[in-house]
Formats: sequence, structure tokens, C-alpha cells
Amino acid sequence: MSKTALITGSTSGIGAGIAESFARQKYNIILNGFGNIADIEAQQKYLTDTYAIKTLYSACDLSKADQIDEMIKTAKSTFGCIDVLVNNAGIQYTEKIEDFPPEKWDAIIAINLTSAFHTIRHTIPIMKEKGWGRIINIASAHGLVASKNKSAYVASKHGIIGLTKVVALETATVNITCNAICPGWVDTPLMRKQVDDKAKTLGVSFDQALLDMVSEKQPSQKCATPHDIGELCVFLAREEAAQITGASYSIDGGWTTE
Ligand code: NAD
Repeated sequence: MSKTALITGSTSGIGAGIAESFARQKYNIILNGFGNIADIEAQQKYLTDTYAIKTLYSACDLSKADQIDEMIKTAKSTFGCIDVLVNNAGIQYTEKIEDFPPEKWDAIIAINLTSAFHTIRHTIPIMKEKGWGRIINIASAHGLVASKNKSAYVASKHGIIGLTKVVALETATVNITCNAICPGWVDTPLMRKQVDDKAKTLGVSFDQALLDMVSEKQPSQKCATPHDIGELCVFLAREEAAQITGASYSIDGGWTTE
């Protein structure tokens, strides 16, 4: 019987890469996120035509608890189950704490952390019904270490690692695992916006700012790709990964080894 994966924030970047990795494994896919509707339809068509799977798109705004509830209900009624839940959507804003806009703090905590609380609490009963499930939270190197000017982001990502551990303990005996992935720099629109900002601030080219930014943190001096993250998610969903739970996997070119 085919399985189903719901990936939040999968209309772009890492989430789109994760969706394609699960589609390649013949999972039906629930896409979620913002974007141009024609682009999202093209993404759905690409996945269904290339991998002969079914897709569903939810425009759920993850900062709204009632919309999350609706998305999970629709996923369950369409596919009968959610085998894999990937909490991937995230936003970023950088500013020193005394100038950090409170509304940006609230939005980052809501989307990067609280939305995962809601998706997980609604999905666990569905997974328990089936007696199997995998929950994967896309945290960040910033779930393990800090950087300046990222108070809300770092707090949200440390928070999601704590949430991952609690969910792992609470589901340890029921064939459900919950793990976090902690990427360093990954080449996506979210990352490119930060490179753009840095290039403008320093008056250097995009390529120079990219090299400076990645080298500053990542000993490998290279970004990971959305595909790399997707394949790690697929591994965590395999039977062989049944005893991996409550873990945080770094995929950061050595960033957090020091
Ligand atoms: P991205 O900006 O390319 O994609 C973010 C996705 O989240 C998009 O689909 C967007 O529409 C969706 N989204 C944003 N707000 C939403 C909302 N309110 N409701 C529903 N969907 C919403 O970002 P990305 O770089 O692919 O990041 C994905 C995840 O990976 C994030 O959690 C991010 O923190 C994490 N991450 C990224 C990097 C990196 O270098 N790119 C590094 C570490 C961790």
C-alpha cells in the first residue's frame, strides 16, 4: 500500500527537495506553502507525471492554528493516513535584539516552532491508528549553536530540538519516531536573501558575499542542497531507522564540530 508524506513549506527550497525525494520513493505527497499558483500546479504536475504518485496542495498558513487543523483533516480524508510528517517551513529575520521588531519575533516563533506543535499533536493520533509513523523536524545548525542578530530564529530552532526530544519520548513504544535535521547553509531562496542583504551592506558581489558567508561558518566552504536534506529524510523514514529517535542530525559541512 502506498504511503503518504506531508511536508510543510514544500513549495520552495528544502521542502521542495524533500517532497521530490519522497515522491521518488512512491509516497503520495501533500505540498504546503505560499507561492504563485501556476508554479505550484506545475510542481504538482511534475511530481505526479514523473513519479506516478498522487499529490494534494494545501495553502494552509502555518501561523493559523485552525488552518493547520483543516490541512491535517483534509490530508487524512484524502489519503487515509499521514505516514511521514516533515515540519520544514521556516522564516528568518536578522536584527540585533534591542531593535528586533516584536511582530517579527512572534511570526518566527509561530511558523518555525508553534506550527510544529500543532501539526504533531494532530498527526500523532492518525499515526497511532496505523501503528507506524515518522516525524522529522527541520531545525538548523542554529538549533545547536547561536549567531548574532538571529535571536528569534535561534530560539525557535533550539525550541524545535527540545520538542523533538519530548515527542520521541512520548512515542517511543508505538512505532513512531521523531528526529531533527540540522542543516548548515543550504542553497535556497531563504539563504539567497541573506546573501543579497550582505552583498548590499558590504558593497560586494553576490558571489563574494556567498563565499564569505559560507566560509565564515562552514569549514567545507560549500552549501548542502535540498536534495541532500531530502535523502536524509528518506533514510529516517526507512525501517532500518526504527531505533533512531530523539536525535539531531547535523548536515553542515563541519559548522558545529568546534
Ligand atoms: P524557503 O524560503 O526557500 O522556503 C520556505 C517555505 O516555507 C516556502 O514554501 C514558504 O512558502 C513556506 N512558508 C513560509 N511561511 C509560511 C506560512 N506562514 N505558512 C505556510 N508556509 C510558509 O526556505 P528554506 O531555505 O527552504 O528553509 C526551509 C527550512 O529549512 C526552514 O525551516 C529553515 O529554517 C531551514 N533551514 C534552512 C537553511 C538554509 O540555509 N536555507 C539552513 C538551515 C535550516
